[in-house]
Amino acid sequence: DRISEVDTGDNGVHAFLHVDAEGAIAAAAASDARRAKGELLSPLDGVPIAVKDVLTTIGQPTTCGSKILEGWVPPYDATVVARLKAAGLPILGKTNMDEFAMGSSTEHSAYGPTRNPWALDRIPGGSGGGSAAAVAAFEAPLAIGTDTGGSIRQPGAVTGTVGVKPTYGAISRYGLVAMANSLDQVGPVTRTVLDSALLQELIGGHDPLDSTSISEPIPSVVDAARLGASGDLTGVKVGVIQELTTGEGWQPGVMARFDESLELLRDAGAEIVEVSCPSFEHALAAYYLIMPCEASSNLAKFDAMRYGLRVTPDGDPSAEEVMRASRDAGFGDEVKRRIILGTYALSSGYYDAYYGQAQKVRTLIQRDFAAAFEQADVLVSPTAPTTAWKLGEKLDDPLAMYKGDLATIPSNLAGVPGISVPAGLADEDGLPVGFQVLAPAKADDRVYRVGAALE
Ligand code: GLN
Repeated sequence: DRISEVDTGDNGVHAFLHVDAEGAIAAAAASDARRAKGELLSPLDGVPIAVKDVLTTIGQPTTCGSKILEGWVPPYDATVVARLKAAGLPILGKTNMDEFAMGSSTEHSAYGPTRNPWALDRIPGGSGGGSAAAVAAFEAPLAIGTDTGGSIRQPGAVTGTVGVKPTYGAISRYGLVAMANSLDQVGPVTRTVLDSALLQELIGGHDPLDSTSISEPIPSVVDAARLGASGDLTGVKVGVIQELTTGEGWQPGVMARFDESLELLRDAGAEIVEVSCPSFEHALAAYYLIMPCEASSNLAKFDAMRYGLRVTPDGDPSAEEVMRASRDAGFGDEVKRRIILGTYALSSGYYDAYYGQAQKVRTLIQRDFAAAFEQADVLVSPTAPTTAWKLGEKLDDPLAMYKGDLATIPSNLAGVPGISVPAGLADEDGLPVGFQVLAPAKADDRVYRVGAALE
């Protein structure tokens, strides 16, 4: 009822691309029956959840926000989806996203943008704007997102929700349609830190179907969230990343809430120190080479033969002509831009100059993280430099859009976990601000502990 009330129509939030009312209601009834018998399958049995439309779902379309996959219904569930079902969570439907997760505003969806529930003329962040907006608009209590360069955390920040990018490999990517395999990570989008922890514990853990899945267990994030909620951070060293808190481009209202959150951490007993990560200056440039390289290769499989859209030109077209016409009609501008960029950077003669250099920068970023984590248990920054901008404002300026990912991208390049928690509203526009906490790989518990202390 809530979804039909707020999601549809000209001024609707448009968080969902597909709603499975029947399936969700049947799953909820089954959960009620289990509850009556005292046989719940998990702590979240019966709690409905929305899933970003980049994860495969049996019987529900999976479009990745693209026309090229319109009408495709996958024959298998992503591991995360299978685990949600096995734990008794009714799946409400699939949420809107920038096409193939490329974007920071959800305006690059082929099915129209999602609106920010806080101000309907504003973007909900991206690429997972649908999942964040669904939670912020009380259409779903929980959602699943994916984060390649910030697509869980930045939408979380601008919609006042909690978003977590776990350690690379902590949650299976099986059934996640890949944008950039070495950066992609599935994670929770929720209203509270404890909800995210319960969700991560449910969907995380080793999966033999994902070769990059971590086999050893990580410390309990639920225990960490509970510990953090007690409000005691005595002995925790918090490092403020100089490169992500000084210089130009940081909205004053964002910095004011950030400084306030630091004070709260200090009050909770944490020690605040300054750390420097000089290579972060080049993270954006490295990301916007590595990501398109991987994406251009991944998207080659959409050849009009195997899945979704097929456009057949008149006459007696060759297979190549069918592919060209289908890809031309099926992919949007941002996807085409990145395919061209990635193909160029990977071509012989340019490979070392671009892809090779970007990989070297990636190593430097990993080293900066390692050095910073010698000085602090967690690192912090604002999640995004600004609050939600107006729909359309940055659509014609890809570079301006990319700059919004400044603070989230380094952790994807290094594979380390990060959380964005609400830090209040900016004075100048009354819109939500996010506070980001990062920790070393496999120390996801630390981001939950510090995040929960801020609630
Ligand atoms: N905004 C970033 C991009 O456009 C990140 C996207 C993501 O994390 N999926 O690539």
